[in-house]
Amino acid sequence: MNTVKPIPAHRLPDLLKRLPKAELHMHIEGSLEPELMFALAARNGLSLPYADVAALKKAYVFGNLQEFLDVYHAGTQVLRTEQDFYDMTWAYLERAAADHVVHTEIFFDTQTHTGHGVDTDTVINGLHRACVDARSQLGISAGLILCFLRHLSQAEAFEALEQATPHLDKLLGVGLASSELGHPPEKFTEVFAKARQLGLRLVAHAGEEGPPAYIWSALDALKVERIDHGVQALKDPALVARLVREQIPLTVCPLSNLKLCVFPTLAQHNLGAMLQAGLVATVNSDDPAYFGGYINENFTQTFAALGLSSQHAYQLASNSFEASFIDASAKQAYQDRLAELFETFE
Ligand SMILES: [Zn+2]
Repeated sequence: MNTVKPIPAHRLPDLLKRLPKAELHMHIEGSLEPELMFALAARNGLSLPYADVAALKKAYVFGNLQEFLDVYHAGTQVLRTEQDFYDMTWAYLERAAADHVVHTEIFFDTQTHTGHGVDTDTVINGLHRACVDARSQLGISAGLILCFLRHLSQAEAFEALEQATPHLDKLLGVGLASSELGHPPEKFTEVFAKARQLGLRLVAHAGEEGPPAYIWSALDALKVERIDHGVQALKDPALVARLVREQIPLTVCPLSNLKLCVFPTLAQHNLGAMLQAGLVATVNSDDPAYFGGYINENFTQTFAALGLSSQHAYQLASNSFEASFIDASAKQAYQDRLAELFETFE
């Protein structure tokens, strides 16, 4: 890791804002802002179980992951047409561009939507069209990662993968999301093996609320290349040693962890300790419309709470490119942009 010039604490918020970065853990359905949710409901002639935007926002208080998932799934009901999926994705991409995200690997699922009678083609085509437009109009590269819902069966995950197979050229990889506890990664061993055969990259949520054992099995049974969250890894020194040795990236989401009570306060978050241990941690927004902020908000609040420095900022941004699924030359181009910001930052 390069040593970078120190930047005074009062200049850090501006540095963090302008940092070129990749976002690797963001569920597109979790970027659906209340205002757009109401607009889509109106466009589709649907009603929401909340009187207005203010009433909906009041429901965004969660005691754990499951309480969040219940509210979140209610919000996805307004998504019906390809244009709805496009509009939601475009809104996120514009927001990400404003935060100096230069590359994003977007999570989505199809099982929620097929459960509402919306087919896989509608979902993927809407998301993909927004990603294509983002490259030309916003200068962001964007890829799509299909997440299986782990509270459902592996047979249902196979069905989702099969329905997505005609769109393989639009997909970067597969992931594993939704209720973690009681649904260990190994439940999905065969469907991940199938995805690997199809040439897809592999990631999984593990060690958010669940134990370090879930991180081990995500690596050994699913053979994932990246762990989403992974904050519980620090409870297991042998696991930390392995993650460091193999340079397995962890996509950490501090405001999500705070909102879902994984840590009681941001000051108690272990992001600083993860970096200290040599883990390839990154900062991401998870479900920004629900958790109180997009990626830059995650950076600024976490840096303030933990007293992190410009060196940490450099490392986190650099990690985000190394952890991404872009090719080596694109990685180098982004690393150069990052180094240039530090050289010219006043
Ligand atoms: Zn997530």
